[in-house]
Amino acid sequence: MSTHQMHYAGGPLDRAGHRRKDEQWIQAQLEQNGTRFIPVWRGSSLMQIGKPGRSTSEPRICSRSEIGKVMDLSVQTTFLGMGHRTPYFAVDLSNGVEENVADQLNGIFVDLRLAGQHMEPENAALLAYARGMLHWHRSHQYCSQCGTKSDSRNGGHMRACPEANCARETYPRTDPAVIMLVEHIPADGGAPVCLMGSHRRLPTRVFSTLAGFVEPGESLEEAVTREVLEEVNVIVDDVRYEASQPWPFPSSIMLGFYARAVTTDIEVDDDELSSARWFTSEEIRAAGDWGDDSADIQLPRKDSIARHLINTWLERQP
Ligand SMILES: [Zn+2]
Repeated sequence: MSTHQMHYAGGPLDRAGHRRKDEQWIQAQLEQNGTRFIPVWRGSSLMQIGKPGRSTSEPRICSRSEIGKVMDLSVQTTFLGMGHRTPYFAVDLSNGVEENVADQLNGIFVDLRLAGQHMEPENAALLAYARGMLHWHRSHQYCSQCGTKSDSRNGGHMRACPEANCARETYPRTDPAVIMLVEHIPADGGAPVCLMGSHRRLPTRVFSTLAGFVEPGESLEEAVTREVLEEVNVIVDDVRYEASQPWPFPSSIMLGFYARAVTTDIEVDDDELSSARWFTSEEIRAAGDWGDDSADIQLPRKDSIARHLINTWLERQP
């Protein structure tokens, strides 16, 4: 099992979960002058401006007075936690016009999925946390039981139905997804190989590990086995946990595994993959990075757990 810190993990805040139910305390934090706000506009994160029209890799974190100029603070805020003695809140500015809000806050909104890999890990983790919480609020505005508009509670970490005869409580959800590197060690002493596929939703030269969502009523190990069978018709065993990565794009956690192939013939599921094949360690070492158009084979982004699984496998090869 890896102790390697994944990108988007290792956030800098004390989440102070025991304070969330104290409404007076939350309100007092919201009203402090030193409180910091992390703005999100419909899933995009506010960054500092570098060259005109371009963002830097530094988040634009705002003061109370700055946020007060663009919105009434009674709208959606979520308490994220304490950084030393400073309270941090995520603030949803989605009701404003993107360009106007960004101009007033002297920043630029960007998609964290693209910008996150260039950011300091602590900042990437902080913005991913804010984005994930506000996505949950935006997609859970109504009670799932009776359809009434629900209220944010517990500093934004719970939503409650106001209907007295319903009163359903809903908590932020994280969807588990398994991601796995399948290896084959030939019985004749040949070089070990690993299985990677080119996913239809990624550029065609990018080859990565297989992945899929965990379904109700199955263990993580069963999900690994099922997904590999569905995507490439390969049977695996010896499923071993390696590491996890928060992936709030919009609401997942990636659970990384190794698995050993029992069969090697590949039959690709065309819905998910355009191709899949076995790679030797030499082939992977010769591959380029994502976006390196001189390379026929490109590896997944360096901030991804897929790349971690591949790199860790490579380190074990002669
Ligand atoms: Zn309800």
